[in-house]
Amino acid sequence: MQKQLSPDTGCSDEDLSPYHISHQQFERATRHLEGLKQGLIDFFSYPKRVISTCFPVEMDDGSVQTFHGYRVLHNTVLGPGKGGMRFHPCVDEDEVVALATLMTWKCALVKVPFGGAKGGVACDAKALSQGELRRITRRFITELGDNIGPHTDIPAPDMYTNAQTMAWIYDTYDMMHPGKNNRPVVTGKPLEMGGSPGREDATARGCLYVTERFLSLSPIEGLGSLQGTRVVIQGYGQVGSFAARLFSEAGAQIIAVSDSQGGIASLNGGLDVPAVEAWKREHGTVVGLPETRTITNQDLLSQECDILIPAALGNQIKADNADQIKARLIVEAANRPITPEADDILTERGVYILPDILANAGGVTVSYYEWVQNNENQEWPLEDVNRKLRDKMFHATDAVIDRWRRFPSETPEGSDIRTDLRTAAMVVAIERVAHLTLVRGIWP
Ligand code: GLU
Repeated sequence: MQKQLSPDTGCSDEDLSPYHISHQQFERATRHLEGLKQGLIDFFSYPKRVISTCFPVEMDDGSVQTFHGYRVLHNTVLGPGKGGMRFHPCVDEDEVVALATLMTWKCALVKVPFGGAKGGVACDAKALSQGELRRITRRFITELGDNIGPHTDIPAPDMYTNAQTMAWIYDTYDMMHPGKNNRPVVTGKPLEMGGSPGREDATARGCLYVTERFLSLSPIEGLGSLQGTRVVIQGYGQVGSFAARLFSEAGAQIIAVSDSQGGIASLNGGLDVPAVEAWKREHGTVVGLPETRTITNQDLLSQECDILIPAALGNQIKADNADQIKARLIVEAANRPITPEADDILTERGVYILPDILANAGGVTVSYYEWVQNNENQEWPLEDVNRKLRDKMFHATDAVIDRWRRFPSETPEGSDIRTDLRTAAMVVAIERVAHLTLVRGIWP
C-alpha cells in the first residue's frame, strides 16, 4: 500500500487516503469471512460506475469558473444507489469512491433496500452566493442526466448541501422529465416539496438511539445510560447542533462543542444548549459565547469526558492524537473521522467506537422513509417516522453487538485479527451483500 505524507502535520507518514482507508477497513472485516469467494471480494473492492465531469458556471461578477463534479455508484445488489452530494474543496474521485463504498455497507447494515452511491462538487460552498450555488447544482445535475433517477440512483444532502440544494436537484430533474412523479429522485427535500418529517435531525437522532441502545446493553462499566454523561461534540453543523440538543434533552451534559472557527468549553456543569444555538445563529460561530472558555480543536478532542462525538470532517482522530483522547466511547456522527491506526490505538486503550456505518445511518434511514412516502404520495406523522427510525437503529445496534460478542470464541488468542465494533459492523454488512449477490445469482 502506497504511503503518503499527512497534509495536516507534514511529519506523520500515516496514510490518510480515504480510498486506502476504505480498503483497509474492508480487508480487516473479510478476514472474518473465510468462506467469502475471492471474486466477490474483488467485486466489492471497486466501484460499479464512476462519473467524473467538469462544467463551466457563470459567477455573479460575470467571470466564468470551471467546476469538477463526481457521482459514484459503488454497488446496486440491494437496490438503487443512495447517498449524499457534498460541496467541499476536498471533493475528489478517491474521496467520493470511498464514501460511496461506505454507503453500501451503511445501507446493508440498517437494512434499507439501497446500494451505495455518493457525489459531490469540488467548491467552497461558504464563499459562493445562493445564485452561484443554484447554477452549479443545476448544471451538475444536467451533466449527470439519466444517471440519477427515482429507481437508479437517489442523491441526498451531505456536507455543505441542504434541503434547498435538494429542491434545486428535484426541480432540475423534473424539468428534464416532465409528467411523472419525480419526487423520489432525491431525498432531504423541503417539507412542502415532499420532504419527510424528521429528516432534518435524523442523523443526530440515529446517533442518539444507537448510543442509548449500546449503553443499555452495558458493555461499558458504570455507563448504563446517557443520564449525567459528559459529552463533547466536534462540529456544530447539521448533525452536531442537533446532536447537542438531542443528547442534552436525553439527560447528558454537553461540556464542549466546536465549529470550523474554534471550540468552547463550559466553565462548570454543561453548556446551555439553546444559548449556544442562539449565539451561533447570531455570530456564525459558537466561539465567544459568554461564560465559556475558548479552546482549540485539539483541546476539544482531548477533553476529559464520557462520550466524544466527531460530527465534522474525516481523519480527525489519527495516529498522532489518538493517545490524547480521554473519552470512553466515541460515536462517529461524521463519516470516517478515525483512521485505522487510530482505531488500533484506541481499541488497545479500551476506548469503544460506535462506527459511522451504524452511528450515522439515521440520515439514510429517514431518506428511505421519505422515498417510500414519495412513491406512495403519502406523508407520515413525525412520531411514526421517529418510532420506525428507533426500531431500525436498535435492531442494527443489536446485530453489531451480537456479532462483536461472538468474536472472541472465533478468533485465536494472540492473532492480529481485529475484533472491534467497526469490524463487527462491517462483517454484518458484507455478509448481507455477499449473501444477496449469490441469492440473486451472477448474471448471466
Ligand atoms: N449523506 C448522508 C450519509 O452519508 C445521507 C445519505 C442519504 O440520505 O441518502 O449517510
